[in-house]
Formats: sequence, C-alpha cells, structure tokens
Amino acid sequence: MPDICIQAQSPGDKLVATISKTLTSAGVPNILWGNYLLTVYGVPTIVGGVAFVVPDDLTETASSSLRKAGFAGCTHGSGCPFLTAYQRLPLAAHLHINDEFVISIYRKSDALWELSWSDLISASDPRLPSAVLGRGRGRFRPECDIVQVPHPVRYCEALILLLCRDHCSRSANYWMAMLSYILEYMDVDETHVFDENSLGEEYQPFYHALKGGIGHGCIVFWTNFVGT
Ligand SMILES: [Zn+2]
Repeated sequence: MPDICIQAQSPGDKLVATISKTLTSAGVPNILWGNYLLTVYGVPTIVGGVAFVVPDDLTETASSSLRKAGFAGCTHGSGCPFLTAYQRLPLAAHLHINDEFVISIYRKSDALWELSWSDLISASDPRLPSAVLGRGRGRFRPECDIVQVPHPVRYCEALILLLCRDHCSRSANYWMAMLSYILEYMDVDETHVFDENSLGEEYQPFYHALKGGIGHGCIVFWTNFVGT
C-alpha cells in the first residue's frame, strides 16, 4: 500500500512520485505527461489529475499495479463523468485518486513515439525551473526524483510531431497552444534547460517560424513536414 493517504490528496509531488514508484516497481517505465508536466516546466496551468505515458504493451500491468497499490479502478466505463469530454489522445486506462482527480495512462506510441528513454530527465533536475509566483510549480523536490519527464527540447519536438499528425483535427489547436507555452515560459533566459539550437535540424525551421509569429513560413514548413 502507498505510504500516504491517497484519497485525502489533491495531486502533489509526493503523490505523483508514489504513482511513479509503483509503476517502476511493477516494471513499467513511465513518463509524466499532461498538465502536471507543464507545471514542472514552469507553465501556470490548472492540474486536474495526473497522467503518465507508458510502453504500449504494459498498459494493463500499469493499471493493475496501481489498483493493487490502492487506487480505485473506474466503475463508470467509457462514460466516466470525471474524464474531460474531449481527450486529445486515446486513453489506454484510467484510475481514480478520489472523486475529483484521475490518473490517466497513455500509450507511448500515441504520444511520444519518437522519444528515446534516454531523452528523459528527472523531474527534480536542477536545470528545470524552480517555483516562481505566477508560474507553474517547477521542478520536484529532490526526494521525488524518481519521476521522469521528457527533456524539454525533446518535448518540443514531440509537440511538433503531434501537431503534424493531428493537423486536420481540432487537436491541432491544443498542440499549438502547448508549443506557445514553451515559447512563453521555457524559451527564456532564466530557464537553462531549453535551448532551441538543440532541437533536431528538421524541427528548427518550424520552431523558428513559430517564434517569428504564426505566419506563412510556419504553415509552409508545416505542410512540407506533413508531406514527407
Ligand atoms: Zn473513471
């Protein structure tokens, strides 16, 4: 059983670390995802739950290990009222922390298919921003370093790929908003972990166009990228 009271919790670093530790102990590599990840990157946003990306073939292991750890499986089926009405990615599984917060599990092939496991960093990495008033909660405390997040540069690349994949759907606006958060909150002098020059060469024209404003160059590159 977890060493903390699950149902009394709103998601916090310790609870997220408990979830990650449970998954890791069950042999499920896991990557923090969703709005909680954004807050680690310093983006001010509302956290309505916790999301992890796991290998495709381990989603059931992830779900069962969390149930064994005391998190509640869903009894509502696909019509669960605690899920947001519109999921940007197919949900592989979800569990309930309490009546308000959900743990969402996503397949790696749906979210971060190009990401290498070596592209992860600890959520406690000191290069990540610290908590700043008016921004996200920033990096985790050192004792919660089991939680892994994509290196922000690789996260930016993943968002560009998601944007290209979903360019004909309403998800495109969501991925574009995520990219704009990187521009606004990570591509700044005081954050040392994001360097646009570390983006893969194939991503840089898009990012530079985006940084210059959502204009013709950005759309042309986007179209070309999708067409390749
Ligand atoms: Zn549910």
